Amino acid sequence: MARDTTINHPTMTQSTNNNHQTPDAAIKADAVYKQYKTKKHHPPYALENFSLTIPRGSLFGLLGPNGAGKSTFINILAGIVRKTSGTITIWNVDIDTNHREAKMYIGVVPQELNLDPFFTPREMLDLHAGLYGIPRAKRQTDALLETVGLSHKSDAYARTLSGGMRRRLMMAKAMVHTPPILVLDEPTAGVDIELRQHLWKQIRTLNARGVTVVLTTHYLNEAEELCKDIAIIDKGKIIANDKTDNLLAHIEKKEVVITIEEPLQNIPASLKHYDLCQNTPHQLRFSYAPRKTALQPLIEALQKEHIRIRDITTRQSDLEDVFIKLTRPSHSTP
Ligand code: ADP
Ligand code: MG
Repeated sequence: MARDTTINHPTMTQSTNNNHQTPDAAIKADAVYKQYKTKKHHPPYALENFSLTIPRGSLFGLLGPNGAGKSTFINILAGIVRKTSGTITIWNVDIDTNHREAKMYIGVVPQELNLDPFFTPREMLDLHAGLYGIPRAKRQTDALLETVGLSHKSDAYARTLSGGMRRRLMMAKAMVHTPPILVLDEPTAGVDIELRQHLWKQIRTLNARGVTVVLTTHYLNEAEELCKDIAIIDKGKIIANDKTDNLLAHIEKKEVVITIEEPLQNIPASLKHYDLCQNTPHQLRFSYAPRKTALQPLIEALQKEHIRIRDITTRQSDLEDVFIKLTRPSHSTP
């Protein structure tokens, strides 16, 4: 499925709409609130004062634990859920005042896949293109099927497709109208490692061709691998939003526990500027941000002090730590 099939995207050719200049922001949300009526839950808002700008051309990750509000935001973009208040523009088009036009600029693959089992992929894409009013001559059904690696299944019933194939078909379906923005809600949830790699490659290829890609994930490593920009959502609020590298430099902490041969009464003055503390006379704990600080100078400094090392164990912060750190009241978000 990694074969290179060229699909014309408005971003790379020409905007489909002459009234709009190519915008700097692919998606802009301003003070969005969402309160579901059907369910009383805490906190009361699924989205609360949610403001976010997703730059055109970015590969943007929305990261957050289950229940954070990621799908709520995606489903609002897709027109499946109505926001309670606030403003959202897609490609500079307001989703409230110009709903139909806004839809032309975005393709969404929801978290829950619903495929009609009695259609073949080709029929499904054709039907969907028809819904968007794309004339037959302009449809790119075969190119889309090839892009997602489903050419050999063009005429098979959807119910015979594997889970991974269904997901890829949904991606093709989201792209029938060649939108400049593709949004994927948990594209790799429940997907095996090999398929995950394929999907990542495909997502990168689309992005390299100029498509703005937004994806949600609750895996820190997935966001880190794939996304250049990340917003972290927790309890309906944006708690961090930055370039991936900046963000991780702030939040990613590594902890090293150094067991030493001889007991140490005090940390020597020459080591005071390291973030070191003593667990026991035989154990030192060193916290550092791997992207900013190296471990080597500390090891050398210890050797200079003739402190002999017996063992070193490390622990890298995971998403859990990140949330604890970012949501702790004393911590100001980076
Ligand atoms: P995420 O995708 O980050 O896991 P969701 O957007 O699905 O989070 O959910 C955010 C919150 O909104 C959760 O508390 C969830 O229970 C609630 N919620 C989501 N969808 C509905 C719905 N259709 N009706 C009522 N509550 C919902
Ligand atoms: Mg979700």
